[in-house]
Amino acid sequence: MIVVVSGPGGVGKSTVVAELLRRHPDMHRSISVTTRAPRPGEVSGVDYCFVTEEQFTDWIDKGLFAEYADVRGHHYGTLMSSLQSVRLQEIIVLTIDIHGGPSIKRLFPEALMIFLKPPDVMELERRLECRGSETPEEIVGRIELGRYEMTFAKEYDYMVTNRDLDTTVDIVDSIVRSVLRR
Ligand code: 5GP
Repeated sequence: MIVVVSGPGGVGKSTVVAELLRRHPDMHRSISVTTRAPRPGEVSGVDYCFVTEEQFTDWIDKGLFAEYADVRGHHYGTLMSSLQSVRLQEIIVLTIDIHGGPSIKRLFPEALMIFLKPPDVMELERRLECRGSETPEEIVGRIELGRYEMTFAKEYDYMVTNRDLDTTVDIVDSIVRSVLRR
């Protein structure tokens, strides 16, 4: 089963998915391709597959992506090859932006679409500040973007408010399990 976890930047998608996978070794993450530079501690092939603009464009031309999007000046994409081999009982989780989700749904209509929502804009701001990887101007831009991104929630099957990590992971997990049992 393909599970798409999406939502505004800074809502905590990666943290939620990392904890979900830590608790459930039967779930796997799809490793996206990106042209952005690795952050400290990020490893190519583990966090992302980090590639050059030329490489990314070449892969677009060759039709290798199931979806790709530009997020804050960088390309991000999911390779078709990461999804085509998904077996029936296998759970593969995609942590992607709000534009990527609907593209996956068009290609894989059975994909489970989960939208993570911040409790409120102040909380989103606090999280972005805590992360410390953005300047104040970038944070303002991210918050405006966050408001816009919220309008995409209707494209998703479930909306989960990320108040605290444990509860969010429990909810996402139970959604996945209940859909899997159908
Ligand atoms: P970051 O650079 O902070 O890791 O990610 C920036 C944004 O890009 C996040 O919203 C993340 O979910 C999104 N993203 C990561 N991988 C993909 C992908 O393969 N496709 C799309 N559409 N978005 C992605």
